Amino acid sequence: MQREAVTVWNRCVQIIRESIPDQSFRTWFEPIVPLRLHEKELTIQVPSQFFYEWLEENYVHVLRKALDFAIGPEGQLQYSIIVDQGDERSRPLTVNVPTTKTTQSAKPDNVNADILRSPFEMKDLDSLQLDSYLNPTYTFDNFVEGDCNRLGRSAGFAVAQRPGVTSFNPLMIYGGVGLGKTHLVQAIGNHIKNTNQDKFVLYVSSEKFTNQFINAIRTDTLRDFTNFYMQVGVLIIDDIQFLAGKEKTQETFFHVFNHLHQSGKQIIMTSDRAPRDLQGLQDRLLSRFKWGLSADLQTPDLETRIAIIQKKLLSEGVYIDYSVIEYLAHSINTNVRELEGVIVSLMAQASLARRDIDLELARSVLRNIVIDVDKEVTIDSVQEAVADYFKVTIIDLKSKSRKKELVYPRQIAMFLAKEKTELSLKSIGYHFGGRDHSTVIHAIQTISDLIGNDAHARDAVEKLKAILK
Ligand code: ADP
Ligand code: MG
Repeated sequence: MQREAVTVWNRCVQIIRESIPDQSFRTWFEPIVPLRLHEKELTIQVPSQFFYEWLEENYVHVLRKALDFAIGPEGQLQYSIIVDQGDERSRPLTVNVPTTKTTQSAKPDNVNADILRSPFEMKDLDSLQLDSYLNPTYTFDNFVEGDCNRLGRSAGFAVAQRPGVTSFNPLMIYGGVGLGKTHLVQAIGNHIKNTNQDKFVLYVSSEKFTNQFINAIRTDTLRDFTNFYMQVGVLIIDDIQFLAGKEKTQETFFHVFNHLHQSGKQIIMTSDRAPRDLQGLQDRLLSRFKWGLSADLQTPDLETRIAIIQKKLLSEGVYIDYSVIEYLAHSINTNVRELEGVIVSLMAQASLARRDIDLELARSVLRNIVIDVDKEVTIDSVQEAVADYFKVTIIDLKSKSRKKELVYPRQIAMFLAKEKTELSLKSIGYHFGGRDHSTVIHAIQTISDLIGNDAHARDAVEKLKAILK
C-alpha cells in the first residue's frame, strides 16, 4: 500500500461518507483498499467483480465527486478486482480495469460545476440533443403496480402518452420517502423521450432548481435562467416541498409554471406530503396545483412487496428461495427503498462470504440493518427477549404446541410485537409459526385483559418493555 494512495483515498472517503447512507458506506466502501497513486490515477482494490459492477452502476457520481475533491478534475480511478481468493500457493488474481464512466463529468448531482459551465445557453434548441438529466433505469416496466400506487401510475402513464394534453396538468405525485415518487416521474420522462415525441423533457430536483436560481442571481443571468425553463416541453420537478419558505425561488417558479401551463406544456411535480399540507408555499402556487391531478403513493401491501422483491431479484439475475422472499416482505414494511437496501446488502454479504442467500443470512442482515440504522425494535428482538425472560426457546414460541407454559409467553410476545413493531397482524402471525391474524388478535386481547387484572402479567410486560427500549 502506498502512503500517497492512502492519503488520497482518505480524502475521497470524506466526500463519500457525506453523500451516502452509513449502511451503504459500510457495505460498499469500507472493504476497499487503496493500492497506489500514479500521477493522477488512483488504483483501488475491490473484493469481487460484482462489487466493481455495483460501484460503477450506483456510485459513479459519488466517486467522481470524491475524485474531483481529492485529486482534481483530471483524477482517474482504476479498479483492481480480486478474481479468486486462491489458496496459500496461488496468490489472489487481480484484474485491473479503468473506470468506464467516471471520466465523464458527473451530471445529475453536480449542480455548481454544471452551472459554471453552461449558463443556460439555448441558442439552437434541439430538443432531442439536450440533456434531460433522466436516469434511464427508471421505467414503467420495472415499476410494480399495486393498490398502493394505482392512481398515480395510471395517471402518470396517461401523461407519458399525451403530455400537456390530458387534464392531469400539473400532475402532482406525493407520498412518503422511498415510495417511488422519483421512479414514477422519471419513468414518465423516459417514456416520452423513448417514444420520440419531439419534446424537450427536463428533470430537476427542487434543490437544484433553487441552487441554479441563486447562482443566476449572483451572476446576473436570471433572464437566461427563466428563458431556459420557459422553453422546456415537459418539466419534471422533484421534491417541491424543498421550496418551502424560499419566497424568491417560488416567485420565479410561479412565472415559469404559468408560462409553461399556458403554452400547453406538461408540468410534473412530486412532494413528500399532500399539497394542502405544504406549509411555506405561497397560496397562489398551491392553488395552481389544484388545476391538475394530485395522486398519492402509499406504503405497498404484502403482495406488492413480494412482487417488488421478485422483480428486483430478477433484474439482478439472483435466485433466492421463496421462503426468504416471504420473510423479507413480512419483515420490512416501511418503504421500498429500505426493501431494496436489504436486498442489496444480502447480495453483497452473499458475494463476500461466497454463500447462498438463505433465511439465516437474511435474518442476520436484517438484524444488523435495523439495529444499526433505525434503532427499532424488531420481531427477532421481541422473541429473543421474551424467550429469555420466560426461559423458553424461540423455537418453542413458534411451535404448534398448546402447552400452557408456552402459550402464555407466546401471547405476551405477540402483544409486544404489536406494540413495539410496525408489523401487521398477518405478519406477526407469520413470524409465530404461520398463525393466522385472528390468533394474534386473540393473544393481544388476552394479554390486554390480563394486564388490567393480574400483577404478574403487568410486571412481565413492563420489564420486557424496558428491556426492549
Ligand atoms: P421517493 O422518490 O418516493 O423517495 P424513489 O422513487 O427514490 O422514492 O424509490 C426508492 C426505490 O424504490 C427506488 O430504487 C425505486 O426504483 C424503488 N421503487 C419504489 N416503488 C417501486 C415500485 N412500485 N416498483 C418497483 N420499484 C419501486
Ligand atoms: Mg425522490
